[in-house]
Amino acid sequence: MKIATIEQFFPLPRVRLVKITTDNGLVGWGETTLEGKPASVVAAVEELAEYFVGKDPLRIEHHWQHVYRSAFFRGGNILMTALSGIDQALWDISGKHFGVPTHALLGGAVRERIRVYAHWGIGSLTDEGKASARERLDMLMAKGSYTAFKSGPGGKWRAHEPPSMIDEFVERAYLMREWVGPDVELAFDFHGKMTPAMAVEICHELKGMRPMFVEEPVPQENVDALKQVADKVSFPIATGERLLTRWGFREVIEKQAAAYLQPDTSHAGGITELKKIANMAEVYYMHILPHCAIGPVAFSASLHVDAVIPNFLAQEQIDQGLGGGLLQQDWEVVDGHIDLPSKPGLGFEIDETAVAQHTQYREELGGEYYYETDGSVADW
Ligand SMILES: [Mg+2]
Repeated sequence: MKIATIEQFFPLPRVRLVKITTDNGLVGWGETTLEGKPASVVAAVEELAEYFVGKDPLRIEHHWQHVYRSAFFRGGNILMTALSGIDQALWDISGKHFGVPTHALLGGAVRERIRVYAHWGIGSLTDEGKASARERLDMLMAKGSYTAFKSGPGGKWRAHEPPSMIDEFVERAYLMREWVGPDVELAFDFHGKMTPAMAVEICHELKGMRPMFVEEPVPQENVDALKQVADKVSFPIATGERLLTRWGFREVIEKQAAAYLQPDTSHAGGITELKKIANMAEVYYMHILPHCAIGPVAFSASLHVDAVIPNFLAQEQIDQGLGGGLLQQDWEVVDGHIDLPSKPGLGFEIDETAVAQHTQYREELGGEYYYETDGSVADW
């Protein structure tokens, strides 16, 4: 069996897909969506296709090593996203070739179902804000009885903000706790927007409502700054959606700068590398919350890693992760969990008509948070 073609599809504004077809007609799908650099990843996949066409699709580890190590310049968001999508598609083909779900080829499932968490929060304390938060919470609970949710403070945060801004966010967090009660876990994504001092100050205010974790309290480049926050906060700190490969996670793991790691199966190096990162983290009793804020193929690929790693905690799921009209059958959430994928490969049938629609790329946040009121650049 040989790889015959590698094609790319752009079916939703924030979903870029790769389709690999073999000479005996097997098809594998992967996702290559990268915020900020979508066209560059498309070009990278085209470059990699020159290597892959004609190769045996089952030698996944060998191909990963070739792509990662044979170029003098290794890694980077663009190459790793392209490789991640291709890696997912090869695992899809492998499962279909052997007639088993991909997780069966990764050592076999260590759990019977996969816990997922959804995005929900009270974005504003106005009557309107509370009404729309209540509506979304009711919808999510009716859809899948979720047991964990994540939201964020949202908006722009400077190096320091007045008590009114901090208090408003903290009040929203405590109100969320009041609404969901003590049996549901609540997490907050700071989106790498805070300084260490600011993050610690806010985390101390949040402590009483017992957060599940705070994600990316500070930007990802400086692990010592992250550790400074983690050491001063009594509940778990998470990070990792912008870190790539085992080498990218190494310092966080060795310094024990976070309790939970959030590698993304479409950026960190695909299914192959996500499992290895999780295995490294297991030694340090760190748990994995795979990041997924893009489309249904990346989400489906994540489920197979979730199935086989002992130190898994919960899988991130956004609305598009449910399918976004691209899968013939959406993943069903029951009691906050998804059943193990049981079909060969990644376990979904793609809707070829929906996938064939070509859409322009559009960022989720639209750039509205790029500038402070004084005109200087802000993190978003
Ligand atoms: Mg995040």
